[in-house]
Parts: sequence; C-alpha cells; structure tokens
Amino acid sequence: MREVLEQIKERAISELSKLEDLKSLKEFKVKFLGKKGEVTQLVKRLKEVAPEERPVIGRLINEIKQLLESRIAEKEKELKELEKQRRFEKERIDVTLPGRFPAFGLKHPIVQVMEEVVDVFRSMGFQVAEGPEIEEDYYNFEALNIPPDHPARDMQDTFYVSDRVLLRTHTSPVQIRVMKKYPLPIRIIAPGRVYRRDFDVSHTPMFHQVEGLLVDEGVTFAELKGTLQEFARRIFGEETKVRFRPSFFPFTEPSAEMDIGCVICGGEGCRVCKGTGWLEILGCGMVDPEVFKSVGYDTEKVTGYAFGLGVERIAMLKFGIDDIRLFFENDLRFLSQFV
Ligand SMILES: [Zn+2]
Repeated sequence: MREVLEQIKERAISELSKLEDLKSLKEFKVKFLGKKGEVTQLVKRLKEVAPEERPVIGRLINEIKQLLESRIAEKEKELKELEKQRRFEKERIDVTLPGRFPAFGLKHPIVQVMEEVVDVFRSMGFQVAEGPEIEEDYYNFEALNIPPDHPARDMQDTFYVSDRVLLRTHTSPVQIRVMKKYPLPIRIIAPGRVYRRDFDVSHTPMFHQVEGLLVDEGVTFAELKGTLQEFARRIFGEETKVRFRPSFFPFTEPSAEMDIGCVICGGEGCRVCKGTGWLEILGCGMVDPEVFKSVGYDTEKVTGYAFGLGVERIAMLKFGIDDIRLFFENDLRFLSQFV
C-alpha cells in the first residue's frame, strides 16, 4: 500500500508539472482529488490494510492530499499569470503602425469633365441655366422648330411619359425657357442629363449634354467659331486644330458640326477617327429665326448662336475610352482611375 501511495504521488506531481493551462489543471484536480479521484479512492481501500497500519496509511493519504492541494494552488496561480501574459501578447497594439484610412469618394469622370466644360464657358462670361428633365413636347420639339410630323423627330428616339410630356432628348428646351423668361442679352450654358432610346458602345439611354446659347443684336457666326475654337483649345490643349463642316439642325440656320484634330493619332488617321484624322465633337449654328418667333423676338434685329455637345463623347476622347457604357456600370476599379 505504501508503494501504491508513493507511485500515485510521484505520478501526480510529474503530471502536474506538465500542465499548461487552467482547463487541464481543473481536469487534473478531478482526476486525483475528485469524488472518484485516485487519492479519494485510496481511502476506501484502507480496509484492505492491516488494522495496526491503518492510522499510518491514513495519515500518509492525508499528507498526499494536502501536498497536492497546495501544489495545485501554486500551479493555478502560475497558470493564471501565464494566461494573462498570453492574452496581453495577443491583444498587443503596435501604436507605431500607420492608421487605416477610410476610402475617399471621388467625382465621377463625367461630372469632372462636365465641370471642366462649364468652367471654360463661365470664364468666357456664360451663366449656368437649368431646366426640367421631364419636359413638355412644346419646349423639346415645337418651339425649336420641330412641329409634329416633322421628319427631324425621327432623328431622336424619345421616351414619352404621355402624349405631350416626355424625357427631354436634348438640353435645347432650356434655350426656350430662358429666352421666354429673361431680357436680352442672353449668354447661357445649360448642362444636364438627357434621354434617348439607344444603347450600344457609343450610346446610353441617359447621357449628358452642355447646351450653349448667346443672343443679342448683331451676333455673328465668326463669334461662334472663335468661342468654340477657344473651348477646344482649353479642353484638348493649345495645339488642337478645329474645322467646321456644314450640317443640319431644325433649330439653327446655318448649321455646322465642329471637328477637332484626332487626339489619338494626331491627324495621321486611326481606328477612332476612322482614318480621317478628325473627330466630331459638337453641333452648332445660328439660331433659326423660326425659334426666335416662338419666343416673340424681332427677327430683323436679334441674332444669336447655339451649340450643344455630349459630355460622354468629350470624356471618352480625353480619357481614351472606347465604350461609353463603362461610365455607368459603377465598377470602382474603372471609376477610381479618374483622380
Ligand atoms: Zn485618329
């Protein structure tokens, strides 16, 4: 029996020294000192011992019990300290690490280009005017010399809200609203969203235009050319070449389209300019007297010019983007490149 006691004691002390956390210490305590623990069981075996030896053995068992209890208490203290340190190590903060910054929002490339275009014209004395995106047929077509059944209506696929109400197909209705409301001279640009039923690499159902209108007495086509030439240089660079080609719009007469020398190939001819060396960037012309009549001007005295450009078209050429739909897919990998 004495041997058994000695073995249990040695085994217990050796096991105890190997424990590494509080959980296994608890299991150890149950294993030796619990109700069914090895040391506790020894007491039940006292009856196997010769009666005269019982008191000695009993005392030995008690000694082992007390020894283990005090060693367990020591070990518990030691392990608690160790776990505290482990936790500190795990939660350690390196205050010298740089902080994590939240992602900053950026202006959408279309907004950037629109603001740039607006700034150029504002610096030339134009004021910004706005109008509704849900527009009356009258302002969008009729007052701009496009009566019902006019073939020019086929040029634009229109989203109708009702027979007389539609999503504006251009920013030109703002011209009419401004001329009806304000006295001469008028010098405005109207930036904003417009809508057409179109969707491919160069068309989206919603896009942005900037409309320009200057009306006064004695305005000439030469002034229009000078203004737009300056605009092209400010947006695409000092060396930018421009040319005007005759064109047709119902609300201007004469009408023209302005091209700039291809920004991709520098005039040599490439895929983007279709080998011509020129890129069309806007439409313009002298305001048709029929338009002036609809707002009650004296067409003998009053003249003016108007122009309209697509913001997406300018942005595509500036940034070298070949699919307009990329602007509206909201892919941050694309959008975050325009800082
Ligand atoms: Zn080219």
